[in-house]
Amino acid sequence: MSTTTVQPLSTPVEEIPLNIESPQDIGFVFDIDGVLLKGKKRIEEATDIINYLSERKIPFILLTNGGGMTEKKRIDFINKTLQLDKYPINEDQLIQAHTPMRTLIPHHKRVLICGGPKDDVREVAESYGFEDVIRPIDIIKANPTIWPYHMFSDEQIENWGKDPSITKLDVDMVNCKENLPIDSILCFNDSRAIGAELQLILDLLNSENGVLGTRRTEKSSKPSIPIVFSNNDFLWSNEYKQPRFAMGALKIAVLTIYEKINGKKLEQLTLGKPEKVCYDYAHHILIDWRNVLLGKKSPGNLCLPKLNDAPVNSPFKKVYMVGDNPESDITGGNNYNWGTILVKTGVYQEGDFELNPEISRPSLGVFANVKEGVMAALKLNGLA
Ligand SMILES: [Mg+2]
Repeated sequence: MSTTTVQPLSTPVEEIPLNIESPQDIGFVFDIDGVLLKGKKRIEEATDIINYLSERKIPFILLTNGGGMTEKKRIDFINKTLQLDKYPINEDQLIQAHTPMRTLIPHHKRVLICGGPKDDVREVAESYGFEDVIRPIDIIKANPTIWPYHMFSDEQIENWGKDPSITKLDVDMVNCKENLPIDSILCFNDSRAIGAELQLILDLLNSENGVLGTRRTEKSSKPSIPIVFSNNDFLWSNEYKQPRFAMGALKIAVLTIYEKINGKKLEQLTLGKPEKVCYDYAHHILIDWRNVLLGKKSPGNLCLPKLNDAPVNSPFKKVYMVGDNPESDITGGNNYNWGTILVKTGVYQEGDFELNPEISRPSLGVFANVKEGVMAALKLNGLA
């Protein structure tokens, strides 16, 4: 096997070979883009190794900072692209950046959902079970003067915006008929209407208990209603020659303006890799999936752990994070004391460690592709 194993430098984990007898005592967590897929195309070795793990009932889940569509839609696409006809991956095994927000449902009924293409994330939020989903376009429809520079077309407002009589968003400062408070702001995906979203988010954070059109007098680091960002990625890459702004850029803008208004730093929650909260949630879901494989649980009954609560008594002797991005996948995995496997099929390029010695190194090593990395982990632990 052609592997280039680099010496881990500042990683807190060390690869001590374990003699694991049960295939269900080891688990794998895969990043998607650059590990299983390259853009919209499959990485061939990914198909082999996913089938290999599924056949042996070795637990694995997928963990991505991407989002903007339902878990079902993305998993259908992955199964089709990877040609996983025999052992399709279950949607329960997929964690997108916004998936952990489903744990907020019991206490967040009426939510403002920001970001995402078209009006797609409305469907995502409703699929999680949020009772009352408000989108920025609904607010613009209720009162366009709230952000007169909005770029929504009349057709978009007509097709995507819900009527104020349904949303109870009569955002009229003079003659407010029915204007129900919003419980929280959830930034699901990269903003497509950054001006409107910035204004509405800051309005709500500084409102009286989440009622649009009001302004609290108190200046506090605690906002009127909570805000959650699905990830902290500052940049992303597309066909353009320079990286483009992502969710992290919106977050910086929100934090900066909030501090300008309040003189204090905004209290907020950020999900996604490499945050611990994201790995805690993934760990719970991996345990859940193991229970499904052992016949102790049926699919479609995911647990709803409290965010930031780590599982107690994990049944896993070893869990590996497999990723292509040292900054998110590997940093997060190392900080969480999981084994880490870096692959060369995505963001990481040969020579990156020499160029930037500060970036996180994987505990197991750098491998040509996901299949080689996983097989090395299974061999090391006596399972292959
Ligand atoms: Mg990736």
